[in-house]
Amino acid sequence: QRSAKRTKYSKDPIDFCKVGGLAHHLATLREVIIIPLLHSNVFAHFNMKAPRGVLFYGPPGTGKTLIAAALATEINREGIGKVAFFERKGADVLDKWVGGSEKNLRDLFDKATKSRPSIIFFDELDGLAPIRDKQTDQIHSSVVATLLALMDGLDNKPGLIVIGATNRIEAIDPALRRPGRFDKEMYFPLPGVEARREILEVHTSSWKFKPNGRFLKTLVDATSGYSGADLQALCSEALVRCMKRTYPCLKKIKVNPESLRIDECDFLNARLNL
Ligand code: ATP
Repeated sequence: QRSAKRTKYSKDPIDFCKVGGLAHHLATLREVIIIPLLHSNVFAHFNMKAPRGVLFYGPPGTGKTLIAAALATEINREGIGKVAFFERKGADVLDKWVGGSEKNLRDLFDKATKSRPSIIFFDELDGLAPIRDKQTDQIHSSVVATLLALMDGLDNKPGLIVIGATNRIEAIDPALRRPGRFDKEMYFPLPGVEARREILEVHTSSWKFKPNGRFLKTLVDATSGYSGADLQALCSEALVRCMKRTYPCLKKIKVNPESLRIDECDFLNARLNL
């Protein structure tokens, strides 16, 4: 459980400012998750059901996990109490012992219920809840059935929302996508021109060198088909190029970050390396 995700060395928790090019997704999440979670009493008063599950899907590296982590930080900033955030990779819930996976799921939902308002985030949901068919082994079928039952039980548990993420939506058992389970599906596409510009700006926001104007346009045009993760890797590779250019004997020297002046040629060299 955590309230905000930090990368190992980053100073700041991940929030919505660290997400580029997904303004519409952020606005939707505010409506379908943040407001219902923080004001579940209003939904109860008007006898309205808040969404129970939201499914993020789309190609790898397009910000699904990032936005879930940012969501936890953002909700806790809204200031009306704390929202507990439970993150699990689909396959991590699976257990080799008979009944173990189902118990893990029930324990997780129990914990999240006790900690309401809360969010459960299943990354790589397809690993946990694949389509049940004749080929699917008994264990997987029973895990999917347990998850379905737990999601159906959310009706009596206002203030608990489940988010799933996958890049193989067609591999998820269709029963989970019926109304009342993962009610809302959000597609995360590869970023277009404007989104790539925003993502590059996010990843270079703390740098002295900011690719802007003509060069930013060159970079954006040259990175068609890149995901957010590819753009992040491009920026990180540009940094390595800059370090090597500035300090040819890099291995023997402790680098002072303030001394680094990343420039256009570092990006161009980096792109050639990806
Ligand atoms: P997968 O389906 O493979 O799990 P994902 O969609 O969950 O992929 P993330 O883990 O969210 O992808 O993205 C990986 C990294 O790429 C992020 O930590 C971030 O650095 C960068 N990234 C991806 N999308 C964006 C974005 N929209 N804005 C800023 N950075 C992004």
